[in-house]
Amino acid sequence: MNRIELYKGDITKLQVDAIVNAANKTLLGGGGVDGAIHRAAGKELLTECRTLNGCETGNAKKTQGYLLHAAFVIHTVGPVYNGGKYNEAKKLASCYKRSLEVAIENKLETIAFPNISTGIYGYPKQEAAKIAVKTVTDFLKTSATIKKVIFCVFDDENYAIYKNILGNDI
Ligand code: ADP
Repeated sequence: MNRIELYKGDITKLQVDAIVNAANKTLLGGGGVDGAIHRAAGKELLTECRTLNGCETGNAKKTQGYLLHAAFVIHTVGPVYNGGKYNEAKKLASCYKRSLEVAIENKLETIAFPNISTGIYGYPKQEAAKIAVKTVTDFLKTSATIKKVIFCVFDDENYAIYKNILGNDI
């Protein structure tokens, strides 16, 4: 059974155990997908986020989903792209891996990822997609707990890139 899906649209609309937020280190909200998630979840999300003491780049922390369809939000902090020589690839891979580990720790089975770091943080989309797909695919080989991973793309460019990488598997 293939456990990877591609979806184009707003991640806040997805009915999964957890959606992943491409947050910043403060975890106190921001623009892009982070802003959309906070708006859709309601202000209690920010209240819980304040208790988390921020998050390091490449790490992930869980909150409730509040008004979202998703039960939980896993907040991860992608790297700001700065030319590629500052361990950006490793940090981006870590975001996907740590988010999946947090999902497993909480017995969550379905999870949706946005295209972490490819917006305001400027990561080249093709490279980011390759890292995302490889990290998730490798992880799924080691764990049967996760039943479904959705790559939620928001723009046509990322949709085409993911479609091309995932090919006929989706
Ligand atoms: P980062 O700071 O990690 O780059 P952004 O939020 O700026 O985070 O962008 C990450 C990705 O999320 C981008 O591909 C952007 O198009 C996408 N995005 C923005 N809003 C949404 C949304 N509501 N649902 C899903 N993806 C979104």
